Amino acid sequence: MLKGKSAIVTGSTSGIGLGIATALAGQGVSVMLSGFGDQAEIEKTRGRLAAEAGVKVLYDNADMADGAAVAAHVKKAEDAFGGVDILVNNAGIQFVSAVDEFPEAKWHAIQNIILNSSFHAIKAALPGMKRKNWGRIINLVSAHGLVASPFKSAYVSAKHGQIGLTKSVALEVAETEITVNAICPGYVRTPLVEGQIDDQAKAHNLPRDRVIREVILASQPNKRFIEVEEVAALALFLCGEMAKSITGTAIAIDGGWTAR
Ligand code: NAD
Repeated sequence: MLKGKSAIVTGSTSGIGLGIATALAGQGVSVMLSGFGDQAEIEKTRGRLAAEAGVKVLYDNADMADGAAVAAHVKKAEDAFGGVDILVNNAGIQFVSAVDEFPEAKWHAIQNIILNSSFHAIKAALPGMKRKNWGRIINLVSAHGLVASPFKSAYVSAKHGQIGLTKSVALEVAETEITVNAICPGYVRTPLVEGQIDDQAKAHNLPRDRVIREVILASQPNKRFIEVEEVAALALFLCGEMAKSITGTAIAIDGGWTAR
């Protein structure tokens, strides 16, 4: 059902974004990648995905912190693929600090990369979806879109905002074949979380295995990391025909975290 469609997955040079891009390409979807990293590595990933899946896979180095660059990124994908059927707003960063010490530049970077880029990408991609009367928008949010943790004020605010955006846009297009949903994972083992393990190990002076169980997974009842592939499988389901009536929701995939 997805074969021949095209997608943008922002922040897809690593982690969850790369997992979702890989899963979509595996279903015959052409994909526009973005994100930062070593250019040779990115080109290797792009080439491998294209060769394995036999689809067009492109890369654009758009900075998701820049609204005009996000809009241009969507236009590039539309021009290259003849439209964008699936938009996955996944790019994100984290910064941990007490709110009264939170660096303003970090606050704005988090809002821009997570929340504002989702707005700019949706604004740019939605008219094309409306013309085709089909589309799937997935905002890769977090359990932190549903509940808070201390010292993550910028991230929690941006992620809660993404859920508000999800609901609002879903209602605006509810009578079309376009759905808009949020995926809210608990801890998924990706480079973003690896960095947090290292930081917390230093901060608490604990070995990594204790940090994982006692600090990182303290609020995640299943006490294990979620696999990137599990999140990608949920994204694929949301793109499918059987998910056409699922819209405006925030779906937790968090080992029970938000059941508390
Ligand atoms: P990651 O660090 O592995 O990947 C983040 C991606 O975003 C990378 O490709 C990076 O280059 C890109 N990116 C960062 N800043 C960018 C910018 N300014 N412009 C363009 N691209 C940019 O992280 P991840 O864990 O895969 O996270 C992906 C998304 O999932 C994020 O929105 C994150 O908040 C969310 N999330 C992650 C977890 C987790 O436990 N890993 C849990 C819940 C939600």
